Amino acid sequence: MALVISRRTSDTKFHDRVSELSGQEFMKCFQCGTCSGSCPMGDHIDTFPRKIMALLQLGRMEELSELNTPWVCASCHTCMVRCPRGIDITKVMEALRLTRLRQNVNYVEPSNMQPEEIIDLPQIALVSGFRKMTS
Ligand code: SF4
Ligand code: SF4
Repeated sequence: MALVISRRTSDTKFHDRVSELSGQEFMKCFQCGTCSGSCPMGDHIDTFPRKIMALLQLGRMEELSELNTPWVCASCHTCMVRCPRGIDITKVMEALRLTRLRQNVNYVEPSNMQPEEIIDLPQIALVSGFRKMTS
């Protein structure tokens, strides 16, 4: 999915919160795209990690909150290992999830899941999914 960076106003508080939660200096990102080229979840995410970093640098909370990338990220650490600026992008993705979960907003709502969806899923997948995607 193509991502258009709009002229919405920058949210510096959001920028600072993600920086504090992740402990990462994402302003060091120079948009080389190595993380995006390495991501195994490329076919499933709305936008690549490089664009996530660009939106963060611009403080674009609204655009970021509409993307599935932080939730689909498998925390495989490939991007972190390959980033020439030493940014732990996995921690940035986790911080993005936390900003939403700490507002008591679930990404997946367990009570809305259908029995036929649940029955085929291994219990460990359900538990892991709920830990990651519910507040
Ligand atoms: S940690 Fe997430 S964003 Fe980074 S390469 Fe793995 S799946 Fe992609
Ligand atoms: S690999 Fe690092 S420097 Fe390159 S785009 Fe990704 S986060 Fe930015």
